[in-house]
Amino acid sequence: MRKIDLTNFQVATSETARDINRRIVLNLIRSQQPISRADLARHSGLQRSTVSVITEQLIEERWVTEGANGHSARGRRPRFLHLNKERVGIIGVNIRPATTTVALADLDGHFVAQESLPTAQNPEQFVAKLSPLLCSLIKMRPEISCEGIGVSLPGRVDLDSQRLVFAPNLGWSDFDLKVPLEQATGLSVELENAANACALAEIWFGRHAEGVQNLVAVTVSEGIGSGLILNHQLVRGSTGMAGEFGHITLVDDGLECRCGNQGCWEVYASNSAAVRYYTRSSSPGQNGKGGARSLGQVPNFDDVLRLAEQGDPKAVDAINEMARYLGMGISQLVTGLAPDVIVVVGEVTRLWSQIGPVITETVKSHSFTHAGTRIVAADPSGQPRLLGTIALVLQKHFGAPLVA
Ligand SMILES: [Zn+2]
Repeated sequence: MRKIDLTNFQVATSETARDINRRIVLNLIRSQQPISRADLARHSGLQRSTVSVITEQLIEERWVTEGANGHSARGRRPRFLHLNKERVGIIGVNIRPATTTVALADLDGHFVAQESLPTAQNPEQFVAKLSPLLCSLIKMRPEISCEGIGVSLPGRVDLDSQRLVFAPNLGWSDFDLKVPLEQATGLSVELENAANACALAEIWFGRHAEGVQNLVAVTVSEGIGSGLILNHQLVRGSTGMAGEFGHITLVDDGLECRCGNQGCWEVYASNSAAVRYYTRSSSPGQNGKGGARSLGQVPNFDDVLRLAEQGDPKAVDAINEMARYLGMGISQLVTGLAPDVIVVVGEVTRLWSQIGPVITETVKSHSFTHAGTRIVAADPSGQPRLLGTIALVLQKHFGAPLVA
């Protein structure tokens, strides 16, 4: 139960009830399609006549289409209802330090077009290159009308000003990304932290989404981020900065972090940590055959991951050490929040059969609560960061309305 916020409430009108029922019907069609009106009435508990009024309205507004006739033992054969997935297109933008991906998706979260561009060091130059690409994507499929743009960022957005305020991995500081993109495209732009976007992707499109109330997405890349969904709601905190678990202190007087503190979780469990563990064990005098030195350059995380996949013992050790530290941080999330599920997102999940057991064991030995939290890897082919940007825009139409 939630306390009514007397500084920010809405009284119920007859429109409120209609809106709630309409969203329930729309979501039932989304999850159960194809579905007949009779089944919608059964699943929702609404009167058949109410279901008819709502579905007629949804068909008129092109959210829903009628498909083939179903079977019936006697009487009129019911017509099945589907989500009209081409009614609305959503543009997703996934900004990462090296590369930015842009895509056009339909209502089902399927990408119908996708392109990428290098992420510029200078945010003004980046916007100048991104804007025309977005405009050409919008025009590419004229039959799809675009509803909005979702952007996922390795950084934080100020809740009031909607400006990007903290993006150390991009090297951008206090920058307005929203207004110039809205001016260039004529569409509304929603910005979201990458870990939050991944949590939304799991809730809206994930394999275990139904019935999950509490989910944490842990993104593992150049840094570590976490997106928290508690009681079905994204947790933002008072400033929009909630979820910076990557910067909790894991090691007293530990190595220095980019945030200015020492011993942060991400210094020990991110991709760059694995590279450090590998390089340390492969330093001159210790380097064996098949090491990164044979690649003729300083290894990056892809090299270490590939070597570990090939069974190189030093690379396997480096990834296992990274996994142990991942487990230590995750055990704090399990002990503190007891979520239903923690989803790990990142390239390292390619080795899930190796690191999954290390993480689980570490969590077991560090968390006394034994919460029944499932720890799983995100499907890397599902492009969770990009899918989360689609969920950002989608939830405006399909999310639960805020009442009272
Ligand atoms: Zn830090």
